[in-house]
Amino acid sequence: MRIPGALALLLIAAASSAASDNVILITLDGVRIQELFSGFDPELLDRADDSGIYDPEVTRGRYWRESPEERREALMPFFWKTLAPMGVVLGNKAKGSRVTVRNQHWFSYPGYSEILTGRPQPDVESNDIVRYPHVTVLEHARRKLGLETKEVVQIGSWDGFEVAAASRDDAFFMSGAYDFVSPELATPEMDRIAGLRRRVMQLWEESSNDVLTFELARAYLREHRPRVMWLGLGQSDDWAHARRYDRLLDYLHLADELLKDLWETVQSLETHRDRTTLVLTTDHGRGVTPRDWADHDFGIEGCQDIWVAVIGPETPDFGELSDTAPVHQSDVAATILKLLGLDYRELDPEAGPPIDAAFRESAERAK
Ligand SMILES: [Zn+2]
Repeated sequence: MRIPGALALLLIAAASSAASDNVILITLDGVRIQELFSGFDPELLDRADDSGIYDPEVTRGRYWRESPEERREALMPFFWKTLAPMGVVLGNKAKGSRVTVRNQHWFSYPGYSEILTGRPQPDVESNDIVRYPHVTVLEHARRKLGLETKEVVQIGSWDGFEVAAASRDDAFFMSGAYDFVSPELATPEMDRIAGLRRRVMQLWEESSNDVLTFELARAYLREHRPRVMWLGLGQSDDWAHARRYDRLLDYLHLADELLKDLWETVQSLETHRDRTTLVLTTDHGRGVTPRDWADHDFGIEGCQDIWVAVIGPETPDFGELSDTAPVHQSDVAATILKLLGLDYRELDPEAGPPIDAAFRESAERAK
């Protein structure tokens, strides 16, 4: 059959502007490349004083295996066996793939700001709960795609996520650590979860429970079908600061189950099935020695190393990548915009570029 010229042009235009309908950004606070790519860190195996592991035999039984690949699959089976093979995972330094932060702080807010605005912001130099005037990828996407305020959403376990999410309070629906969902968007289920979240005590009062935050986000996702969503989880950082390596590993195992639940929910929704890209990353790494693993700050070697995973219809299914060009935390914003069919230069011409390896078209070009 001959395709009429005009139709052919339309088809070409459609193909070249291929995009994900939806993007969900998931951040896991302060998760090192050591655990993500290699599971239980051998450096901490026989160092009870430094690891803080309460019952070494139990933790060893749960997560110790001989090879890094077996260990990471024991720790995060869904991520490594199901999710990763459907997309790309960057940042395994041992295999020649490096992802680093460009900011000179190596703690949370500067990291989230770099992720969301596409560059280190010089004035973001503390974790104070303050909103800065920098336009983020979330509000930019909302404006360019002409979305309703409820179609872009930030839900997270720390108030810092709420202020990092946008340059203004009314940009879209944002929720701090203990907030209820605003009445016009809430359902009885969301109110119940948010109520529970206020009552479940955490190690430190700044952050709320990640399982309940996750359930709140999932209820919102089902009800309002947001096109762009940022889910910020934080307990990995809490357990590490508390120097409880056993609880950190248990937490990562739990976070893996949450990723499975999220994926299944996404696939159960007509609006999202096979049209949604998950972008997973972290705000900073941590130290690499048995003494330093719990900490992170500028100058502690290892804190600059992070990782990024992209899973969705625009992304090749290569799984873990090795020998990649250097990638930065600043490149996440442009990647999200490109996934949505937008040009990052309209957000900020100086922002980091999209991660080439996350796009099928670039992978095909490179062949
Ligand atoms: Zn921290």
